[in-house]
Amino acid sequence: MSLKWGLIGASTIARQFMVNAIRVQADGKIAAVMSSSPERGQAYAVENNIAVAVSTLDELLAEDIDAVYISTTNELHLEQALAAIKAGKHVLCEKPLALTSADARTMVAAARAAGIVLGTNHHLRNAGAHRAMREAVAAGRIGKPIAARVFHAVYLPENLQGWRIARPEAGGGVVLDITVHDADTLRFVLGDDPVEVSAFTQSAGMAGSGLEDGAMCIWRFKSGLIAQSHEGFTTSYAGTGFEVHGSEGSLIASNVMTQKPVGTVMLRTASGEEELSFDHEDLYVRSVRRFHAAIHGDGQPAATGEDGIWSLASAEAALQSASSGKAIKIDPKLGSMK
Ligand code: NDP
Repeated sequence: MSLKWGLIGASTIARQFMVNAIRVQADGKIAAVMSSSPERGQAYAVENNIAVAVSTLDELLAEDIDAVYISTTNELHLEQALAAIKAGKHVLCEKPLALTSADARTMVAAARAAGIVLGTNHHLRNAGAHRAMREAVAAGRIGKPIAARVFHAVYLPENLQGWRIARPEAGGGVVLDITVHDADTLRFVLGDDPVEVSAFTQSAGMAGSGLEDGAMCIWRFKSGLIAQSHEGFTTSYAGTGFEVHGSEGSLIASNVMTQKPVGTVMLRTASGEEELSFDHEDLYVRSVRRFHAAIHGDGQPAATGEDGIWSLASAEAALQSASSGKAIKIDPKLGSMK
């Protein structure tokens, strides 16, 4: 039996990655798309070969669909997710789940009460590179993890230089855009949770309206590990990477903070250097596959709603740190959500 999806949001990410990721599933169908603009919605439906375009949430939820994928701007996620949950639809929601972790908790609680599958589309957990790193850490191949570094400063492509750099009320800024991913990927690779963060942010010339387009964060994890992460919209030539340094070895990954299944992971120990092999499945295809399986009662989405709360609480703490100049504890109430 096929799983029928409704797309909430005529977005770039859906067009570039998620429409394909749904359609390549053996049981994946896209039944309808919702855009707030009837004209844009219609054009998007034609361009992406989607039979139905609607312009209200009620119309979308009245369609014959099993699940929704929410990829509107961030301030809309909460209301749209709650309506979909109320209508009995499973929800795969883009990050950040909402504008505040309190709202994300509301969303997760509603999904749990309704018996609905809620996933957060943190695609990087699905990257073979990050899964190989997680396995190496868990298998003790670097000994005791001591420190990690994430390099995720990129150049925001011109076609995306809209609400992210101009609309605080839509959840713009690099912290809600990229730091959430870094917090999630650190949690995933390390199998550990952050307890505290200290951050500096900047506006390096691209973002306006008080929004930040660069951030550097220092994280302390439960185990005592410390990490640093760098997120940015304005550096074209930095490259990306992820390193974990332990008592017996280091993992050094290059070009892995990306939407594509690329990059390299090297393990360096007393025995020398070894390049780890990993699968190169499309990150978004794996995300949808895991989500379909969860709907069928087989496991959980690659990133759950609880993971989305964690990443948002982490980003929220980073923003508070940047504005207060103090290190901020990451909400301990999250511990009970796990
Ligand atoms: P877009 O700016 O492409 O789309 C967001 C919304 O903007 C759409 O829902 C649409 O509203 C509106 N919109 C799109 N094009 C136009 C236009 N030409 N004129 C006016 N309005 C327009 O956002 P992204 O796809 O970059 O991001 C959407 C969500 O996905 C965000 O939550 C973001 O954080 C997340 N994201 C996640 C990624 C991941 O890898 N996990 C990667 C990129 C984004 P309407 O639907 O009403 O037409």
